[in-house]
Amino acid sequence: MLEYKNEIKRRRTFAIISHPDAGKTTLTEKLLLFGGAINLAGSVKGRKTEKHAVSDWMEIEKKRGISVTSSVMQFNYKDYCINILDTPGHQDFSEDTYRTLMAADSAVMVIDASKGVENQTIKLFKVCVMRNIPIFTFINKLDREAKDTFELLDEIESVLGIRTCPINWPIGSGKNFKGIYNRNSKRITRFYAANNGQKALESVEVELGDAQVDTLIGKDNHDILSEEIELLDGASSDFDLDLVLNGELTPVFFGSALTNFGVETFLKNFLSMTTSPLPRESSEGKIDPINNEFSAFVFKIQANMNKAHRDRIAFIRLCSGKFTAGMEVNHVQGNKKIRLAQPQQLMAQERKIVEEAYAGDIIGVFDPGIFSIGDTLCMPDQKFTYAGIPTFSPEHFAKVRQVDTMKRKQFLKGISQIAQEGAIQIFQEYNTGMEEIIVGVVGVLQFDVLKYRLEYEYGVEVLLDMLPYEYIRWVENKNIDVNTLSVSSDTKKVKDLKGNPLLLFVHRWSIQTALDRNKDLKLSEFGR
Ligand code: GDP
Repeated sequence: MLEYKNEIKRRRTFAIISHPDAGKTTLTEKLLLFGGAINLAGSVKGRKTEKHAVSDWMEIEKKRGISVTSSVMQFNYKDYCINILDTPGHQDFSEDTYRTLMAADSAVMVIDASKGVENQTIKLFKVCVMRNIPIFTFINKLDREAKDTFELLDEIESVLGIRTCPINWPIGSGKNFKGIYNRNSKRITRFYAANNGQKALESVEVELGDAQVDTLIGKDNHDILSEEIELLDGASSDFDLDLVLNGELTPVFFGSALTNFGVETFLKNFLSMTTSPLPRESSEGKIDPINNEFSAFVFKIQANMNKAHRDRIAFIRLCSGKFTAGMEVNHVQGNKKIRLAQPQQLMAQERKIVEEAYAGDIIGVFDPGIFSIGDTLCMPDQKFTYAGIPTFSPEHFAKVRQVDTMKRKQFLKGISQIAQEGAIQIFQEYNTGMEEIIVGVVGVLQFDVLKYRLEYEYGVEVLLDMLPYEYIRWVENKNIDVNTLSVSSDTKKVKDLKGNPLLLFVHRWSIQTALDRNKDLKLSEFGR
């Protein structure tokens, strides 16, 4: 164990969440630069057209400029080995974000200083809270006009319901952005705009209260800063690492990712505050990452990541011990010993074969169609399971029709594979066979992804007819004849892939109607 204890201790695995355009990609790029993982900033993202080049792979993402799938990036910084999990910025993919967060030990929330808490931040943040992990806030774009700093903090506290503790404090913003005051060291790092219009980092450190500060940031700014800090010291929550680790308090950092200002300070503080992989709950109690041999769980499945390969990759998060290429493991849910073939690590759009990995790391393994999301892998002589990953209830439904009915086989293959990835859920009406399939999604953009992927990956063109249903309930009662249930006329009776009956409702009140009309009927929001 000792030989890899240090490897696990130095791991930091986190996800970055943000409303689109808040600066997640730019921040990721700057973090990678510190680790020397890429040489040129432009190789992550250059011109607008090449946006999201590193973390995204699907055409649809490029077209829409949103990040649909999550990818993983690993780099070393000082003594740390960092795994960054990218998440989709759009709320329609919050289920994907949730799964990614299952694989993360903490989250970084990027907020645009001029916009504050935006609607998609709220939805993604809620997902973070469900996971109970530490959340760190990076308030970005201080080089642009920003909202009042206290207002920003208030917004985080009142809208997101988490207490804030600013670790540093901005001095002005936009044209008047002078730098950042570090509350701990009580020192100022000055921000300078370079002459050619491009802003560059140049920092000078002096102590607040010093006469030099007047020269450095101007007397007015010095006065305002002193006042703000006094107010802040009296009003803000004290830093308390336990509260941070419980997800009750978020340390807040200010900066500008684009100009690389405040990013390294953020990274250093963040790394010292967040933890290495912690023990995880399993069916046999907590599994300690260091004192146990290899174990992992599947948090994401993705088919056709690479057109040339047409393969299916299961992403696994290592929870304990060490992984070595070719090792035999027990796939607990499949009750089968398997050898993990071609373990891969995804770095940007390249893949490389990994020889070793440790608790905290994420690797992709070839999936011959045996894995489901949430499955556990452990040593051949063990068979514990990690808690499963719940699925979100779909909120939008559509009927899917093929344009060319000759391509039935490809259609069924495509739609069931995409359903296995967990991106969509599919249902069938009673008495219609597989001719008509109803698809349920959490966010409407997933319909676009489905349509696109069926066409480009499986060569099947489909039409989607939107359905008015918004609520889904599985019928819990065993051996019930669904046809005998009395429901409102706008309620639809369908079954899932396993044949479990369920009801789709247009209005919330129709759920009550069904319960009122059918004595003993038991409904559940989640499938079995
Ligand atoms: P994402 O959608 O959250 O990944 O956001 P991006 O990183 O793609 O950034 C969105 C836009 O904001 C891009 O045009 C960036 O160049 C710009 N941007 C990011 N960070 C900053 C910043 O600190 N200051 C300014 N002025 N612009 C920024």
